[in-house]
Amino acid sequence: MNSLRDRLQRAQQNHEAVGHFNVSDLVVLKAVFAAAQELNVPVIVGLSEGEREFVGTGQIAAFVRNLREEYDFPVFLNADHTHSLAKGVEAAKAGFDSIVFDVSALPFEENIRQTKQAVEILKNTNPSVLVEGEIGDIGTGSEIIETVPDLSKDLSTPEQAKQFVESTGVDILAPAVGNMHGMLRSMIEGATRKHLQIDRIAAIKQAAGVFLTLHGGSGTDDQDLRKAMAAGINIVHINTELRVAWCRGLEQAFAQHPDELVPYKILAPVVNAVKQVAAARLMLFNNKRPKAKAA
Ligand SMILES: [Zn+2]
Repeated sequence: MNSLRDRLQRAQQNHEAVGHFNVSDLVVLKAVFAAAQELNVPVIVGLSEGEREFVGTGQIAAFVRNLREEYDFPVFLNADHTHSLAKGVEAAKAGFDSIVFDVSALPFEENIRQTKQAVEILKNTNPSVLVEGEIGDIGTGSEIIETVPDLSKDLSTPEQAKQFVESTGVDILAPAVGNMHGMLRSMIEGATRKHLQIDRIAAIKQAAGVFLTLHGGSGTDDQDLRKAMAAGINIVHINTELRVAWCRGLEQAFAQHPDELVPYKILAPVVNAVKQVAAARLMLFNNKRPKAKAA
């Protein structure tokens, strides 16, 4: 079994990205794993502090480890948006493959100081863990948002990226390059898309020289995502799109079978709805074209 680092290196060589999907229940975990298996591509399952609190840090680690071993499949586990070092250490001890240590809301110098300390402590706890740091502002929750916040004042620069990576020793950097968490209603309806600053990504990649993660990938224009991968993005996070599929799928399941009481029967079509979304994104991230329909 290759490590996450190996998989990221391979993705980088191919101008592809490893898909990262947030999970907080068995439905989404099953859906994401099934999509990755069907396409035979590596995948990262991520849980924020809130998502870990709901599922259990040790419990999700055991579950994902079992999937990886039983199916001999490259499924990796990431501690997403970890704001406290204690929660990061907990995830490192539980065997997570990577940790996003996120104190990007702090002033830049303080972000550097705390991230540097976190890298040292997390790697002492688990030498194989990859640590990701964040710079700039990419918004907060993976939710429906009413208006686009003005993030233009805190876009990441190549100079900042270089200084941050050299000072902290992070393995992965999450920059602010036009991306943001959450989706507008018009994005959920497909009427508008997010756009990325491709030149900025390329300049940051050149300056930082580490793996780059794109957070808030939901609702991003497909062509922009392809260009971003070519410019140096190695991991793309998708959360809101799966949450929308989960909610809509569950509403439909209840509407169509109002008398059904068996959870796994109610939830089967929800798994399928989430799987479709994850599969479409994984195809794009791995440069796979849809199979042509037989004539
Ligand atoms: Zn994020």
